[in-house]
This record gives sequence, C-alpha cells and structure tokens, in this order.
Amino acid sequence: APVLDTAFFRRWLDLAAAAIRREADHLTDLDSAIGDADHGSNMRRGFDSASTSAAYAAATTPGALLKGFGTHLIGKVGGASGPLYGTVLRRAAKALGEDGTVSPQALGEALAAAVAGVRRLGDSGPGDKTMVDALAPAAEAYQRALGEGAPLTGALAAAARAAREGAEATIPMRARRGRASYLGERSVGHQDPGATSTALLFTALHEAAAG
Ligand code: ADP
Ligand code: MG
Ligand code: MG
Repeated sequence: APVLDTAFFRRWLDLAAAAIRREADHLTDLDSAIGDADHGSNMRRGFDSASTSAAYAAATTPGALLKGFGTHLIGKVGGASGPLYGTVLRRAAKALGEDGTVSPQALGEALAAAVAGVRRLGDSGPGDKTMVDALAPAAEAYQRALGEGAPLTGALAAAARAAREGAEATIPMRARRGRASYLGERSVGHQDPGATSTALLFTALHEAAAG
C-alpha cells in the first residue's frame, strides 16, 4: 500500500498541476458559460507557481507542504477559487499537524476539515452548484469506503469517482453562490467549473496512490 508521506503529497500536487495545465482551456470554457472565463487560467497560474516555489521543494512534512501550497494559492490567484482552494489545503494541513507520515484515517479527517472550511468561507453547501458539490461527496465516499474496510487505493478511487459524479451532478443545478448565481435560472444546464477542477484534483490523488 502507498505510504502517505511528504513525497506522496508532492506526487499528488505535481499530478494535479499537470492535470490543471492539460484541462485549463476546458475549465475556462466552462467558466465562460456561467462566469467570467478565467477559472482555467486562475488555476493554472496558481498551481504552476505553487508547485515550483522554494517552499514546495523544501517542505519536510505533508502538513507543511499543503500549508505552503495553499498559502501560495491565496496569494497568487485573484479569483474566488484561490482563497477557496487555499483554505482546502490549509485546513487539511492543520488537521494533519506535523506528522511525517499520515494514516488513511487522518487523511479522511483532513478531507472533512477541508470541506468544513470551504463551506464556512464560501457560505455554501451541497446543491449550490459550487466546488462543494464535488468536494463533499468525495470526502464522504472516502470515509465510507475506509469504514467498510477498503484499502487506501480503493477508498481514493471511490473518492475520485464521487467527485466526478458530483461535478456532473451540478449540470441541472441552479447556482446559488459565486458569479454563476448572478445568472439565476440561466446557470442551469452547465457544469460548474470549480466542481470540475475539484474532480481533477481527486483523480490526481487517486493516481498518486495507484502509481
Ligand atoms: P471567479 O468566480 O472569482 O472568477 P474562478 O472562476 O477561479 O473565480 O472560480 C469559480 C469557482 O469557484 C466556481 O465555479 C465555484 O465552484 C467556486 N465558488 C465560487 N464562489 C463560491 C462559494 N461561495 N462557495 C464555494 N465555491 C465557490
Ligand atoms: Mg471565473
Ligand atoms: Mg474571475
């Protein structure tokens, strides 16, 4: 089974940055339908810059790595997604503490803390057509799978699947938070860009474990 050490989380964020780069145009297309057409460029700028920073290379614990990355996103991304994803990573980092290696259970608690942090910062919940609609089901699916005795890689596969399904489930929703909410009923019929990028992040997390 993969060990959840600093190298694992760095592998995850490297894969995530590569996925964001690959899908940036798609994310921006989604944001052009119900937002201001910058989600892909916001995410690419943030992830490229954070994953090449000195702090990222120097971090010696998962917590320090995620905290530094999140702080970088908050500083570099102008859009709503910067502070929101920054909070995801910083809340997870706080939950992980200073341990050099994280247990699968501790990762589950960190995911739950991340969901709570975004919900509080964004004043958002499931059904609002935001990243929460991918993040919350992913965190729940991970915990459920672990609770049912699944190995780490299986639980991460379940989380990634739930995130992708959660992103697709935003299509018929009417946005109640963020720029898309300004469109009201016209936000219906489009997939939320932030939920889509969250699904990319969970797919990368599964890939980091599956090798
Ligand atoms: P901006 O909307 O400032 O241009 P981005 O385009 O980078 O920022 O990110 C938009 C995404 O941020 C949305 O698709 C949505 O998933 C997420 N988002 C926006 N507002 C909120 C909120 N209040 N709570 C949770 N997520 C939000
Ligand atoms: Mg935008
Ligand atoms: Mg913007």
